Amino acid sequence: MSQIDGLIAHGVRNLQPYQPGKPVESLERELGLTDIIKLASNENPRGVSPLVVDAVNETLLSAARYPDGSGTSLKCKLAERLGVSTEEVTLGNGSNDVLDLVVRAFVNPGEEVVVSEHAFAVYVLASMSVNAQLHVVPASGFGHDLAAMSDAVTSKTKLVFVANPNNPTGTYSSREAVEKFLDLLPPTILAVLDEAYFEYVTNGDYPDGVTLLSRHPNLIVVRTFSKAYGLAGLRVGYGIASKEIAEVLNRVRHPFNVNALALAAAEAALGDETFLAESIKQNLEGLKQLASGLDKMGLDWIPSVANFICARVGRNAGQMYQMMLERGVIVRPVANYGLPEHLRISIGLESENARALKVLTEALTLSEV
Ligand code: PMP
Repeated sequence: MSQIDGLIAHGVRNLQPYQPGKPVESLERELGLTDIIKLASNENPRGVSPLVVDAVNETLLSAARYPDGSGTSLKCKLAERLGVSTEEVTLGNGSNDVLDLVVRAFVNPGEEVVVSEHAFAVYVLASMSVNAQLHVVPASGFGHDLAAMSDAVTSKTKLVFVANPNNPTGTYSSREAVEKFLDLLPPTILAVLDEAYFEYVTNGDYPDGVTLLSRHPNLIVVRTFSKAYGLAGLRVGYGIASKEIAEVLNRVRHPFNVNALALAAAEAALGDETFLAESIKQNLEGLKQLASGLDKMGLDWIPSVANFICARVGRNAGQMYQMMLERGVIVRPVANYGLPEHLRISIGLESENARALKVLTEALTLSEV
């Protein structure tokens, strides 16, 4: 053990850093390829709204000034849109930041955090870093088993994370299941409902977490501008919770955690409903395109309501990921999510989806030789 090893905080000792999707530039450098497509980080393939570009350009001129540390203007717009008060909104540097704020503000070392198997990795990272005890509940059909998650709650539990829909599986929990879960949860335990992909879900029985807040003061709903709004690179997310909870989150929030360009961009993005509607429509079409292509290849896939789909490509998933990379298509291996035979493909433009399917077919054929 080196001297530094001995200094590491207990919770950080065994942490493995979050593995992001491979950036296009690294693949260009490594393989000398051009014309690479990245379907690895669930980004919006349409790019950004022109209204966002204008707002960012204008705000850039005042970049010498600190941003509004409370993000009042964006909070007002969000509060109005969501039918809540501004005091119930907490802004974050991406929704990751909000997830981390919740853990830092509320979870003591040794307290339990309940998560589902195959759930978004940041819940585990944030919890481990404060030395919490993790209770990972087996998934049911790749989705959260909310009844089992309720059963997993003990007197030591402080927080339960529910991703709805979940990444990387794309599965969702129905309104009935979420309501039942929240009804059973003791009011002294916090629930985070992570709705990063909320805007994409069109299923009638999918619950809007914000409508559940009035009945459940222990609930924190988390959303982001990174996905359907197309602002992943600018980092803006938000939490919606009671004023009491929001006030506590505000104590650990870094000053100016959301930068001026991001604040302006998010506000402008809220004003472009056409961009949002087109993004959602295109995503639904892309999901269908990928699902039918996977069917043609005879591959199983996990039904998804988000902007990605997990295909079961078999034991050679790692090798197939490499083969796809060599052909300029970046997807995401998900072995670290307990899915060693799957690859997650983000929904791209129609031509990108077609190319991913073509390259996956080639990889499948080659890996079978
Ligand atoms: N929650 C889920 C379920 C996610 O998939 C992601 C992004 N991968 C996030 C939260 C965090 O996204 P961001 O920080 O960009 O808002």
